[in-house]
Amino acid sequence: MSLVGQLYKLQQLDLELQKKQQELSEVENQLSDNKAVVAAESRLVSQKEQLEDARKKQRSSEWELEDLQEKIKHIDGKLYSGKTKDPKELVNLEKEVKGLRSQIRPKEDTLLGLMSQVEEIESKVRATVEEVEHLKREWEQTQETFRPRKREIEIALAELRAERSRLAEQIDSEAFNIYERIRLARGQAVVKVERGRCLGCHITVPTSQWQKAKAGDLIQCNNCSRILYLE
Ligand SMILES: [Zn+2]
Repeated sequence: MSLVGQLYKLQQLDLELQKKQQELSEVENQLSDNKAVVAAESRLVSQKEQLEDARKKQRSSEWELEDLQEKIKHIDGKLYSGKTKDPKELVNLEKEVKGLRSQIRPKEDTLLGLMSQVEEIESKVRATVEEVEHLKREWEQTQETFRPRKREIEIALAELRAERSRLAEQIDSEAFNIYERIRLARGQAVVKVERGRCLGCHITVPTSQWQKAKAGDLIQCNNCSRILYLE
């Protein structure tokens, strides 16, 4: 293989390496992306807090109602035991018990409202628990698909790198340095000549130049400095 042929082959390996590197980072992105799971889990945490809060309110509303019923029972006891004889006191007790009874209905309504709030949040929590499980299963499947793919790419990359360094060792070091310099500056260091034009910059290459390039000499385009390659 001519020197320029070797450089052209080197470039093909570099392009392949670049492509594989890109594929690897895409696969790695897929593997690390569990944003959906994290978001659903944090939603679940806040829903559970809401549920805890609503349950506390429900319990304290139940206690208030029990307390009220206790008070009414206590006064009813006084009223109907026959122990209280004073008519004025009896009137006062009746007034008090009437006032307490009137509080029962609104307190029951409040309790019912709180109970239905608790039920509503409970069903939200159940739905989110299911969603989290579903997203986790999906994520696991993604992992199972992409982990072997990642290994494949890593193996291919290692092989390409080994091949590149074997080839680089065979190439004249001065030519290799020219190649690397142009690659850094222009992305592609070796270009073909077609119909007398450099395919890097599309400027016509003098006949004497491309003839030398065809013979295998390292010739750079006068315009863009890329190494000219003719098969
Ligand atoms: Zn050129």
